[in-house]
Amino acid sequence: QRAGRTPLIAGNWKMNLDHLQAVALVQKLHWSLKDAEHAADSVDVTVFPPFTDLRSVQTLVDADEIPFGVGAQDLSVHDSGAYTGEISGAFLAKLGCSSVIIGHSERREYHAEDDDVVAAKTRAALTHGLVPVICVGETAEDLEKHGASAVPIAQLEKALEPVASNAEIVVAYEPVWAIGSGQAATPEQAQDVCAKLRDVIREKMGDEAAASTRILYGGSVKSTNIATFMREPDIDGALVGGGSLKVDEFSSIIRFQK
Ligand code: PGA
Repeated sequence: QRAGRTPLIAGNWKMNLDHLQAVALVQKLHWSLKDAEHAADSVDVTVFPPFTDLRSVQTLVDADEIPFGVGAQDLSVHDSGAYTGEISGAFLAKLGCSSVIIGHSERREYHAEDDDVVAAKTRAALTHGLVPVICVGETAEDLEKHGASAVPIAQLEKALEPVASNAEIVVAYEPVWAIGSGQAATPEQAQDVCAKLRDVIREKMGDEAAASTRILYGGSVKSTNIATFMREPDIDGALVGGGSLKVDEFSSIIRFQK
């Protein structure tokens, strides 16, 4: 079973919610979980707001001692300099970000991020003390041609090249066809790929890393299916897009315990 790995529920807000809406959502979510039996004790919660919201959300989380991690959705491969429009990992760390999403399929598709860029961003994140949440997943076409696991395995192998065996990372398996489609993978399919991704971590980083690294499933996760994923031994949480934008839904997903 999931020995020693605290479940992680991550909310990827994508390009939704301005800083005022973000603050309101975090406040409501915190209240909603406070009332709940389990609170967030047994689950780690991290939200990934747009860059412009990070300062406000971090200030709120600090001031009210809200037990959520705050992360960014992307970072630059560079540390500083003449890179107009880029955001450095150093700046994110200074804001109190704990982690950063890397290689989300929307970045791969719309910003031409290939496995080399993903590896470089993973390295940049670790350099600045941020936990990289490395996203991998196959498209519908990949699935048809190569099956579910071949592409995510190859993507992860490449992303882990610059990673030391004692580095803290999170891996998110997100089949591209399941993202925003309402069509989640079955828990069995997702477990099968996540187990193989854990084998990649074992090969590249060793037994300890394989045992401690959290692997998330993402793609149309909802309050009605989260429990079925969390029953699988190699799925340690979820990366939630649409379902993280509404307080009741996200709160139910966080309180997934049977
Ligand atoms: P979704 O998105 O939950 O809206 O399918 C998941 C993601 O892209 O991380």
